[in-house]
Amino acid sequence: NPAITLSLRLIPYSENLWLLVARDVSRLLQLEQMRRDFVANVSHELRTPLTVVHGYLDLLDPEEHPDWAPMLAEMQRQSQRMTQLVEDLLTLSRLESQDSLPAEEIVAMASMLSTLKREANALSQGRHEIAMDDLAGVDLFGSNKELHSAFSNLVSNAIRYTPAGGTIRIRFRPESAGIARGAVLEVVDSGYGIPAAHLPRITERFYRVSTSRSRESGGTGLGLSIVKHVLNLHQARLEIASEVGRGSTFACHFGIDRIRRRDAYQDAFAD
Ligand code: ADP
Repeated sequence: NPAITLSLRLIPYSENLWLLVARDVSRLLQLEQMRRDFVANVSHELRTPLTVVHGYLDLLDPEEHPDWAPMLAEMQRQSQRMTQLVEDLLTLSRLESQDSLPAEEIVAMASMLSTLKREANALSQGRHEIAMDDLAGVDLFGSNKELHSAFSNLVSNAIRYTPAGGTIRIRFRPESAGIARGAVLEVVDSGYGIPAAHLPRITERFYRVSTSRSRESGGTGLGLSIVKHVLNLHQARLEIASEVGRGSTFACHFGIDRIRRRDAYQDAFAD
């Protein structure tokens, strides 16, 4: 007999009676697993043909075929977009199949923040003012690679949804919750903002506020789902505050368990 999974709910029925409702969700979980496997397999199968198309496109020199130059540029742009989509789908499948981080390490935040700032400048190409504040003075504990992918998704969104002349601020600051001290990484932009009605669904796969603007901006529609999964794996919380026409703040809240004192292990290596 295959194992079955039950979902149990306790519901108050009358003053001294409770109702225990058990529902067999095995089939539901099985279908969810099939959906994940399907997406992962399709993405994986698309990788090779895409690499080939991409590779041959790169070999075509627009200077040798001046009539084709605009078409070649567009084909390159679209094949790059498809490659990014496949990579994001694979990342998401991988994150979805994990219950916890496979390996954990110290995530040096000073270098993480300067990398993010450098990436922001490269994406913005001088169209925005980029500011960075490192106020927390602590490091995180988790996965360097996954956290970098989450934070850089937030930074790239901030740039893509902020018109030229706007400001993007990356801020890492301490936060107290009761006596415990955590830390928050915030990406604040002065961009288009998100209408409140969209906020509850914004981290769903392929959910977009304005399809045309998001397509033009070149995203895959998977960025915020990736962010949410990475934060979940770190028991961290994503909080979004936004005002249309004024901008948005994406805040990643990390609990005390994820915080490491910078000097603690630096001292250990000192001698
Ligand atoms: P996309 O690739 O479309 O940017 P995301 O999952 O990263 O996908 O974001 C989902 C949607 O949320 C975007 O299409 C956009 O409508 C909205 N969004 C995300 N970040 C911002 C931001 N900083 N300012 C305004 N809207 C945003």
